[in-house]
This record gives sequence, C-alpha cells and structure tokens, in this order.
Amino acid sequence: MNDCIFCKIVNKQIPASIIYEDEDVLVFMDIGPIIKGHALVISKEHHGLVTETPNEILAKLHWVAKRVALAQMNELGADGVNIMQNNGAAAGQEVPHIHIHVIPRYASDGHHWNWNPKKYENIDEMNTLAEKLQKHL
Ligand code: 5GP
Ligand code: ZN
Repeated sequence: MNDCIFCKIVNKQIPASIIYEDEDVLVFMDIGPIIKGHALVISKEHHGLVTETPNEILAKLHWVAKRVALAQMNELGADGVNIMQNNGAAAGQEVPHIHIHVIPRYASDGHHWNWNPKKYENIDEMNTLAEKLQKHL
C-alpha cells in the first residue's frame, strides 16, 4: 500500500529502529512507547485487521511476539509483558497495517490501563450474546 506508514518502514523508505527481520515479519521499536522498550511486530505483507490476515502469518506474528517478550524480560528486566493488538478505528487502531504491540512492564512502572469492567443487566443478556457468538464458532 502506497500510503501505509508501516509498508514504508518495511520497504526502508522511512527509518525505524529494527530489532528483528525474517521473510514474513519485521519488528521495530514503537516511536511512542507506552513503556520504554515497547516494540511492534508486523507482517511484511500488508494486511489490515486480524480477521483479514492469513492464519500462517498470524501464527508467525505471535511466535515472534513471544520471542520479543522473552527478550524484554531477559534483557530489559521486565517483570511482565502486555501483548496487545487493535483492530479498526473503533478499537483504537491508528495504523491500518496489522501489528502486535509488545510492551514491557515493571512492577514500579506506574502505568494503569483504563480497564473499566461493566455489568450485564442480567444473566440472560450475557447468554443471548453468548449464543450468537457460539453459532459462528
Ligand atoms: P495502533 O494505535 O494502530 O494500534 O498503534 C500504532 C502504533 O504505531 C502507535 O503505538 C504509534 O506510536 C506507532 N507508530 C506510528 N507511527 C510510527 C512510526 O512512524 N514509526 C514507529 N516506529 N512507530 C510508529
Ligand atoms: Zn501496510
């Protein structure tokens, strides 16, 4: 894709701090880290959402994300790691090229996700949604 910033990074048209590369996958440092050491695992081929990405590529992205997580723990001393993946603008995806965020976490990093659990009106409301999902699985 001509105007995709991550495709430009893949094609070396714009610089990035690349930490891993193979025939399908590229990993580079996120320019705006949630926590310093935050890396992005992307496919070299342009795919948009997780739902549009071939399974083999998806599997490989996650396999590499695990290696990045291990590096963050073993080399950066991270106590934990968040692995996240946004799909669509409504879900906070700003760059429409599939990428996995691998974010090192430290017991003392002071970061808190705005994780705000809601309640179902009743058990039937939850079960109705569960049935709809189940039909497609
Ligand atoms: P999203 O919101 O799409 O899940 O995440 C996009 C991520 O890409 C953001 O964390 C943002 O900081 C990062 N990003 C956007 N543009 C660039 C860039 O040009 N270079 C690098 N290294 N990261 C970028
Ligand atoms: Zn792209």
